[in-house]
Amino acid sequence: MIKTKIIVTYGPSISKAGTLKRILKYADIVRINFSHEKKEEGAATAETIKRIASSMQKDIAILADLPGPKVRISKLDAPIMVKKGDIITFSSSAAKGAIQVQHENFHKDARVGAYVDIGDGDAKFRISEINGAKVVTKAVADGKMSSRKGISIIGADMSISAPTSADLDLARFVLKNDFDLIGMSFVKSGEDIIKMRKACGDAPIVAKIERKIAVRNIDGIAREADGVMVARGDLAMGVSLEHIPEAQKTIIGAARRLGKPAILATQLLTSMINNLSPTRAEVNDIANGVAQGADCLMLSDETAVGKHPVEAVRFLSRAAKVAEGIPTTLTKEYPKVTSINGGIAFAASNLADEFKTDCIFIPTQTGFTAKMISRLRPNTDLIALTMDEKVRKRLSLYYGVRSIVIGRYGTVDRMFEEVKEIAKRNGIKRYIVVSGSPHTPGSTDTLKYIESDN
Ligand code: PGA
Ligand code: MN
Repeated sequence: MIKTKIIVTYGPSISKAGTLKRILKYADIVRINFSHEKKEEGAATAETIKRIASSMQKDIAILADLPGPKVRISKLDAPIMVKKGDIITFSSSAAKGAIQVQHENFHKDARVGAYVDIGDGDAKFRISEINGAKVVTKAVADGKMSSRKGISIIGADMSISAPTSADLDLARFVLKNDFDLIGMSFVKSGEDIIKMRKACGDAPIVAKIERKIAVRNIDGIAREADGVMVARGDLAMGVSLEHIPEAQKTIIGAARRLGKPAILATQLLTSMINNLSPTRAEVNDIANGVAQGADCLMLSDETAVGKHPVEAVRFLSRAAKVAEGIPTTLTKEYPKVTSINGGIAFAASNLADEFKTDCIFIPTQTGFTAKMISRLRPNTDLIALTMDEKVRKRLSLYYGVRSIVIGRYGTVDRMFEEVKEIAKRNGIKRYIVVSGSPHTPGSTDTLKYIESDN
């Protein structure tokens, strides 16, 4: 079974029920991007996805991606075609002859000589003059500016802060609907996550790392969040493109150190938006992500607006599965054992690899032991047994972990009976069970190796 978790972004390309069904076969999580989706439509979509998934008996989590304080240009009556050398003025407030930027401090964040990017490289300018609220630029190439596109000053940290009040409202709304996970855009520090937590309760929060300052504060963010996303689209503007590999390594490294799942996102299979086959470099990017320790791989435009969404997700799944088989040094990164459950997790993982077990069963109250074992990347399947639907959703982000929701078992003997049943049903013959006192968080202290002929 594939261990890497696959996230697809919802959009017009997969909105037909038949297509959605084919996509869900390969996906673990669907992202609904509220930068493009209206509140009520998003909720209706989530409901449809849940319904289709349940008819397929497929466990799907839904991620509500909140827009955050993304800086955009105002609405334009028509796209503006730009010629190299054109002088274009942007302004933080409405001004005649200038394109308004919806960020009151845009002129303060700007620096003469810095580059300004529209969309994902749709147009590019160099700042030549800053005059009050006006930022005068010169186009460095031919390009196009369309309504409400994102605008960034490359390498600058914009003075924006997340969550916005709209994010908080949206979080409360989606969590009353069919959403399981919250994606937070443009965070800069752990404090941003704490603010969002007030609206989210214990729902898992994924921090999207898409600013330079967020990379600097990655430890604080990863400590507070339930997962981090290498959001390479906007991040490329924040750190500048050539620093993306370094930022990616830092982010995934911090996530692993702090035991949080990492999502690798954006442009994994961009060429498949139009083509049936990816480039060689894209396949390498996927494999490198898996080798570095990404738990999830995410598709954006490939599934949202691409021409070949099913082929893209199928290919991603295949490429990730093959990449999982390439030996890595990830397991050697495991720190010194400092706790009993940590030691048990380590032993279970090693034993599973040495004795080539089919699976490790992990009855878990909070998901903690399952997360620890996932981080060690054993070859075997990991099945978490939890009583809590919320723990199952949280574990949906973790590499290799599948969850089964079970009833209260009360005693260790009863739990083993339950495990035996599940093993039998699934044809699992050689397995490990890690356990502790029933229903007691952090009590994992026992490892049992079981071989049965069912
Ligand atoms: P987005 O986030 O697709 O919501 O912009 C991902 C990214 O910036 O890479
Ligand atoms: Mn982004």
